[in-house]
Amino acid sequence: MAGKWPHSQRIEDGRIIQYTTLKVRLYPNETQAELFENTFGCCRYIWNRMLADQQRFYLETDKHFIPTPAKYKKEAPFLKEVDNQALIQEHNKLSQAFRVFFKDPVHFGYPNFKKKKTDRDSFTACNHVFESGPTIYTTQDGIRMTKAGIVRAKFSRHPQAWWKLRRVTVEKTKSGKYYAYILYEYTVKKPEAVTPTPETTLGLKYSMPHFYVADNGGMADPPHWLKQSQEKLVKIQRKLNRMEPGSKNYQEAVQKYRELHEHIANQRRDFIHKETSRIANGWDAVCIRGDSMGEMSKRLKRGNALEAGWGTFRERLRYKLARQGKALIVVDRYAPTTRTCSACGMIQDHEVGYKERRWVCPKCGMVHSREINAAQNIKAQGLAQYFSMQEREAA
Ligand SMILES: [Zn+2]
Repeated sequence: MAGKWPHSQRIEDGRIIQYTTLKVRLYPNETQAELFENTFGCCRYIWNRMLADQQRFYLETDKHFIPTPAKYKKEAPFLKEVDNQALIQEHNKLSQAFRVFFKDPVHFGYPNFKKKKTDRDSFTACNHVFESGPTIYTTQDGIRMTKAGIVRAKFSRHPQAWWKLRRVTVEKTKSGKYYAYILYEYTVKKPEAVTPTPETTLGLKYSMPHFYVADNGGMADPPHWLKQSQEKLVKIQRKLNRMEPGSKNYQEAVQKYRELHEHIANQRRDFIHKETSRIANGWDAVCIRGDSMGEMSKRLKRGNALEAGWGTFRERLRYKLARQGKALIVVDRYAPTTRTCSACGMIQDHEVGYKERRWVCPKCGMVHSREINAAQNIKAQGLAQYFSMQEREAA
């Protein structure tokens, strides 16, 4: 998703659209700081009002509906004093929070009311380009925003002239510092396509204990700290189940749970980021199996810290490769990659079970590690698929 990563991209009509976020320290003057303070407050206010009305409406009619910020301006005229864009963004954020909640209530909780004490002071505004110019733009040592005017800013890196400014998030830290996160979008030319060879191609198979196993025997081996954090999380959750909801201890445990959850998410993101960079820079193509994420999580009885990361891993890998003109080749998920002997090509008529780490080919006698053999088949099948497609395109 745009903006979620400091550098992310998507491919549209053969062009690569790249996103970059610049983090900039802000030095608002007194009036601007006061305006920011009001904006943080109005954003929390509008979020809470919309959420309360959503709940009421849902109870009364059984339908999901979130009123727009405009509806509240009559009874709360102070909302007119801040940037309307920031309020609209709260509506978008709340809608998004409900969208993910309805889709996956286990991983995404019901949207919470915001409190000044615990919630971050921040607001986001999108840039709109009118004939008279954009609503948000940067100068040599400042950033121009609606209502605030030019706020003094310190750039460690300046945006390129061709970057398009999409939106800005202003945040105040607990220690009272102001930062702006400026999201830019720009197009990059598609790089020359790199033709893979068997030597420069990697085959990967998803593996629950190792995250992935490669055709050359390499494994990601998720760091042990990830497992430790995960175990801690389960412990807190158990403790929570025994506690009196609403008590002070309960509140503290909830806070601890949230912090640890965030910590794990960061660890996982960091791990995935490093792994995908290492692979995309080191290989000319990667073959994987097109596993269905839904089926995979059904198969796994207990959630694993990294299981949720496989989809992200795949996507990150895809665009890190694409950026260098390299391919992520997805093999049909019904291809018999596990029960085919990578040495002689014999296909067994039954699956090799998850618990069997090794098996012996009845035809050629080769002893296989179940996962490495599968990764080798994924690579062979992927390359065959790649070259037959090239042939078809050339014909
Ligand atoms: Zn064999």
